[in-house]
Amino acid sequence: MKTPNYLSKLACMLCLVCFSSLKNFAQSPNIILILTDDMGYADVGFNNGASDIATPNLDNLANNGAIFSSAYVVHPFCGPSRAGLMTGRYPHEFGAQFNLSDSDITNGVDTNETFFSTVLQNANYNTGIIGKWHLGQPDGYRPNQRGFDYFYGMLTGGHNYYTKTSANGGINGAYNRDLRRNEGLANESTGEYITDLFTDEGVTFINNAESNDSDPFFLFMSYNAPHTPLQALDSDKIALTSAPFNYTYTDNNRHNYAAMVYSVDRGVKKLVDALVANGEFDNTLIVFLSDNGGRTDRGALNTPLRGVKGDTFEGGFRVPMFMHWPNQIPAGVTYPYNVSALDLYPTFASLAGATIPSSKEVDGKNIINNVINNTDARTDESIYSIRHRRINNVGIRRGNLKAFTTGNGTWFLYDLNTNISESNAQNLANNPAYQDILNEMINDAYQWSLTHIEPIFFDSYGFPPAVRNSAEATWFNNNSSNNPSNTVSWQERTFDGFTTLSIEGIEINQQVSGYIYPNPVSDISLSIKFNETITDEINAVVYDALGRTVQMEKNLLKTSANITALKLSSNITNGNYFVKITAGNKSFSKAIIIDRN
Ligand code: CA
Repeated sequence: MKTPNYLSKLACMLCLVCFSSLKNFAQSPNIILILTDDMGYADVGFNNGASDIATPNLDNLANNGAIFSSAYVVHPFCGPSRAGLMTGRYPHEFGAQFNLSDSDITNGVDTNETFFSTVLQNANYNTGIIGKWHLGQPDGYRPNQRGFDYFYGMLTGGHNYYTKTSANGGINGAYNRDLRRNEGLANESTGEYITDLFTDEGVTFINNAESNDSDPFFLFMSYNAPHTPLQALDSDKIALTSAPFNYTYTDNNRHNYAAMVYSVDRGVKKLVDALVANGEFDNTLIVFLSDNGGRTDRGALNTPLRGVKGDTFEGGFRVPMFMHWPNQIPAGVTYPYNVSALDLYPTFASLAGATIPSSKEVDGKNIINNVINNTDARTDESIYSIRHRRINNVGIRRGNLKAFTTGNGTWFLYDLNTNISESNAQNLANNPAYQDILNEMINDAYQWSLTHIEPIFFDSYGFPPAVRNSAEATWFNNNSSNNPSNTVSWQERTFDGFTTLSIEGIEINQQVSGYIYPNPVSDISLSIKFNETITDEINAVVYDALGRTVQMEKNLLKTSANITALKLSSNITNGNYFVKITAGNKSFSKAIIIDRN
């Protein structure tokens, strides 16, 4: 991240040093990453989930591995979640906050971001992705150009479940495009069920990888199931209502959805069988998770979590997940601590003995020893999700706590240990005992948000001009730092009133509200805007991160009834500071970042 969090970076480095002596892992295991699409938290058996869903093969792996009860993806819908997964970095930091539109054949995820597939490929892994890509269609952005030796599937965000049949869903018929094999078309036959097609491709990949050479493989099974359109095989639907399951469904969406999940589960058995047949089952790490929460209007269930795909409630970005690796990862355990999909990048790289380029920024952390030892990988560290709409939905998870806002300035705080469903009846945001931790969490998210850049692409690409312009104008008008009329950044609006930190000896009472801009500060002159007319003399004190006074200014000159300017001392170096503004008996404080680069 651009924001220097020196202590956490130092802690990371120290951890890497001490972890390396903790345990010697079997080096360079095969890795299979199974990612489902829009699958709900309740829609796997191993999460004590729904009573009408059958995932016996996933459950078998999960119950013989570690189940993650608090696993988070970085965004509550497909594209940004996948961009975060592949880069190990929050997508907001490299302009991938929005989905790539299926009509967009111009843009992709910034190629300066090295995907972990490239890191594994450079470590002699045979790498393959089967299924959904959704990270860029133009030359330079496709799977074979981003670390995958083999690709079979679609570049777009979804597909019909029967090949070469009539268009159904997607933009401009994108869901009906022919599948691709590497840089060409797959020439698949008509009417194949693509979940089974993908499974069979995965089995072939495993067999080929094993017969070609002795190098390990990385296989990314990127199933688009159970994303819409809800198209299930009749045989799977019948299986679920027959012995041994004997489920009944009152909702046909749910029946179709459950059957689509079941088809993935059948596929997982075939993948496992292929590993066993090749003698590689014990030497393969299998990681399973969903790319975001489920759509309850399309058959999914996220219970007991509140919210759905697209939300920053738990149901939007907390997902089912497990890791399975015989004799390496403990069997039959639940890992209860918070993990992020960002963690897979450095974890996989470490297990592969691979080198992450020194210039690559990674927000996740290598969690393998934490998983083995069942210890918390991020004590006192927050996990974030921000989904930009007209306002900015934010979710912050730290320890047991979850802070949430729709972006309107009202914050909620839930203790997920006692209130996993985020009931507002148990909102702790106004409980004095939680003020400091809530302020800290929100300020963490605020500081993180200052590292975001403008989106490189919008999900409205290819829509009719009125729609597209409206969607992009919403960003420009409300959130863009390039809009000269935005004297207040979206960060200041979203995090208003909480952009402070408690520092011993500094009063931070928000007796008057106001803004400091721009922030990060690149110039020596700061504007300070109050939300009310100020008649008293205005004074300012600048503190460094240790609470030491580095500058005091008295009687700042007002440029209007509620705006004044502060000229920063040129002696103040780049870093994090706090500015306390006092006017009469009122004051407010803001965290600022000085970055003159
Ligand atoms: Ca998705």
